[in-house]
Amino acid sequence: MATHVRVRHHDRIVEGILDGERIRAEDGAVIARSEAALLPAAAPSKIVCVGRNYAAHAKELGNALPSAPLLFFKPPSALIADGEPIVYPAQSKNVHYEGELAVIVGKRARNVPASRALEIVRGYTICNDVTARDLQKADGQWTRAKGFDTFCPLGPVWVDAADIDLADTRVRTLVNGDVRQDGNTRDFIFSLPIVIEYITAAFTLEPGDVISTGTPEGVGPMQVGDTVEVSIDGIGTLTNRLIAP
Ligand code: ZN
Repeated sequence: MATHVRVRHHDRIVEGILDGERIRAEDGAVIARSEAALLPAAAPSKIVCVGRNYAAHAKELGNALPSAPLLFFKPPSALIADGEPIVYPAQSKNVHYEGELAVIVGKRARNVPASRALEIVRGYTICNDVTARDLQKADGQWTRAKGFDTFCPLGPVWVDAADIDLADTRVRTLVNGDVRQDGNTRDFIFSLPIVIEYITAAFTLEPGDVISTGTPEGVGPMQVGDTVEVSIDGIGTLTNRLIAP
């Protein structure tokens, strides 16, 4: 079992393993955690998200269950690290959290059958798929609503693929300490292998790419000043505060 981090240390980006108050970098260096600033848990060329992958969540927004995985992208420019602020955009009056388990891809992948799909998984982290719900509806598609700068908190750490049991992993979201989402990956409509097969039948996944697996029921609004935490058993807690534009 290992907890991996990406950090900025002086002007260098370092990937390594968190060991108490130390970070053991891949190049052998040892860095004090207090001297390093967390970065988003991955540096993807793309962030592929699965919409409506929990039945109870599809229902709460009045949507029919999808007959195939529903995919959309978030831009890498939306990424922020644990502890960085989410900026509430002036264009929206209804910004929601969506706590999600996220996959970090480990190898270049195209046309991967479901039976071999988990071989491309490097590890797992936590994503908050922040969404301007009013703009998602008004725009008729989701690019702007899900793509604002700061709308993709990712981290704080990532863990090895073997450390997460997709058949039973709890995903919770808290706003100012109140539990708003309490789901479990056992309730995925489309399993991760099916999602990976579906994605890679369409386009190539690159090492470092992120797949966010969808959010359980309980989505809702956040306000400026709120603190939002997404907690996933076996990974940790992703914490961000909302600030005014
Ligand atoms: Zn989502």
